[in-house]
Amino acid sequence: MILKFRNEPEELKMLQCLHRRMRLSPKDYSHFLNLEKGFSGEKKFDELLEHSPEEWIILNDLLFDYSNTIFQIDSLLITGGCIYLFEVKNYEGDFYIEQDRWYKAPSNAEVMNPLLQLQRSESLLRRLLHELGVKTPLKALLIFINPEFQLYQATMNLPAIFPAQNKRFMDNLILKSQPANKRHTMLAEKLMSLHLEDIPFGRRFEYTFEELEKGIKCSSCGLFMSLLNKNNLKCSCGSIERTEFAILRSVEDYKILFPQEKITTKSIHMFCNIFNSKRSIQKILSKHYQLNGFGKTSYYEPF
Ligand SMILES: [Zn+2]
Repeated sequence: MILKFRNEPEELKMLQCLHRRMRLSPKDYSHFLNLEKGFSGEKKFDELLEHSPEEWIILNDLLFDYSNTIFQIDSLLITGGCIYLFEVKNYEGDFYIEQDRWYKAPSNAEVMNPLLQLQRSESLLRRLLHELGVKTPLKALLIFINPEFQLYQATMNLPAIFPAQNKRFMDNLILKSQPANKRHTMLAEKLMSLHLEDIPFGRRFEYTFEELEKGIKCSSCGLFMSLLNKNNLKCSCGSIERTEFAILRSVEDYKILFPQEKITTKSIHMFCNIFNSKRSIQKILSKHYQLNGFGKTSYYEPF
């Protein structure tokens, strides 16, 4: 039973919106690709767990602040006999380990040792569980999800499950694990109450409303859409979307990009850049949002 589902990270959402509307710096772009890759790896792992026994408790994407240290857990699986902490890696290509350092081949570029990250989260979670009086043993594992991943010079005792082992690992787990009990459900609820919902991500990206490209982006291909008729937009990829939905989608992008700004007819009209007149934007906003204030200072809020 999945008690906590995985959401797309806020930082990734913001970079997606930005990437659609401006050229990211090479550093931000590679960070964006990394986040995207990481998230898609985690989703792939979720698929593996999708058909797990109902008596297991699964908590995805947890964030804790324990003894002034913030740590994140990709997936936590609570079974009767053991609690599993999974750190999912979507590494692709050839890697090797030399004297506890991890390198990518053939470039020999050193990469962050994922084992250190795993050990850090494990140690903090172990202390947290101890404090909560939990006696069930904890086991931390790296999950390499990408079938194109190969690691050389790894020892057999590395706490890792490799792509070719993923399915077998799950099958084995189903065979030998015990169902979680009421105490485990209470533990899961406690952990969810300790989870930090909103952590502002480290750095902000620099952009202004003016420098972003305006228009409505197609949700299938990412190109700008144009008016097909009054009620529908079309894209050169063949997609057709109701104008109303496309505008609401753009309002969501606007909210992600400018969380401090108010939603006004003027700002959304400029942001969507699809109608000459503001009238249609006003109609759509009034239907889905609550209008506050009067005249030029009026703005929209969710109902
Ligand atoms: Zn398209």
